Amino acid sequence: MKKIPELKQRFQQLIATPSISALDSKWDQSNLPVIELLHGWFSQLGFQCEVLPLPDQPGKANLLARIGPNLPGGLLLAGHTDTVPFDEGRWSRDPFTLEEKDNRWYGLGTCDMKGFFALVLEAAVSVDLRKLTRPLYILATADEETTMAGAKAFAAGAGIAPDYALIGEPTGLKPVHMHKGHAALGIRVTGRSGHSSDPDKGLNAIEVMNLVIGQLIQLKQTLAENFRQEEFSVPYPTLNLGHIHGGDAVNRICGCCSLNLDLRPLPGMSLEQLEHLLHQALKPVTDRYPDAVSLSHLYPGSEAFAYRGEDTLLKLAGQLCGEEARAVNYATEAPYINQLGCQTLVLGPGSIEQAHQPDEYLSMEYLTSTPRLLGHFINKFCLSGE
Ligand SMILES: [Zn+2]
Repeated sequence: MKKIPELKQRFQQLIATPSISALDSKWDQSNLPVIELLHGWFSQLGFQCEVLPLPDQPGKANLLARIGPNLPGGLLLAGHTDTVPFDEGRWSRDPFTLEEKDNRWYGLGTCDMKGFFALVLEAAVSVDLRKLTRPLYILATADEETTMAGAKAFAAGAGIAPDYALIGEPTGLKPVHMHKGHAALGIRVTGRSGHSSDPDKGLNAIEVMNLVIGQLIQLKQTLAENFRQEEFSVPYPTLNLGHIHGGDAVNRICGCCSLNLDLRPLPGMSLEQLEHLLHQALKPVTDRYPDAVSLSHLYPGSEAFAYRGEDTLLKLAGQLCGEEARAVNYATEAPYINQLGCQTLVLGPGSIEQAHQPDEYLSMEYLTSTPRLLGHFINKFCLSGE
């Protein structure tokens, strides 16, 4: 029987180990089996591995693997262990069985992004780990696809201070130095219902929501006119009204109306600042109808990201990848990894076009180019005796 190369075996195992994260508890799974796999593989190579359970979330953990001298600095390679759920009717194959076809490896998590860890292992064996002069860290997080709770928890108590970090999300091995943040909010207007024959006897929630929406549309324009970064294809912060529901019967004064919206700040504006602007915009309505309007988070948001610090990593990535860093429209864990104080880029194999899609795949060209590229970074930042 033909021997299956170790890289493919690892991909097979990672893909065969489901680790879906979802806000819907019907879908949400533990990521511990993937953490166990990585723990085993990195330990075999001589890494010291630490499983870091997420506070108050049984079944979810980060893994930190480290090797090299006990010094500050060094390089962190980071990624997430969870995948999105899959749409069974739209996959033409089993999402949990690695399938090779047309020079592609198919499977849920091949490109976004469990496969990255198998490629990191290839890179690690390609360098002489005994000769490291700076530490090399691998971070595998939980729940990136939902709340980014893993990266947030790690950033809050990491206790490591690498100089450089790469996050291996699918960027086609091109450096990404910026992205927007994301917040999803719900606004609820609680009025007083009553018989429709005397509309002024109650407080019509739809009428109050109409005032709210007027303010939101003004805020949307203010954001577009006052904040701008040309690196982005949509170069201003956005506000989108996504869903509205109110009332129950034509002959009743509407007692309750709710609206869900989505906000995407540019780098340089925190979610807190953006929400402050939202509160200010709604103030004329909330002053007029105190207690009628309430705001809630539909799920925890994620911050915008922009590269900061010296440009050592930016320059090297530009040289090695043959392309300048660019801005993208999706969110990653980069703003949280950035909190460790390291120069941070998003840079990994595969295309974002295949992420979160049925029949997700990784082009096999990345199986050699990725370990080679990562090997260059490890050599430069952990081995060169700087
Ligand atoms: Zn991802």
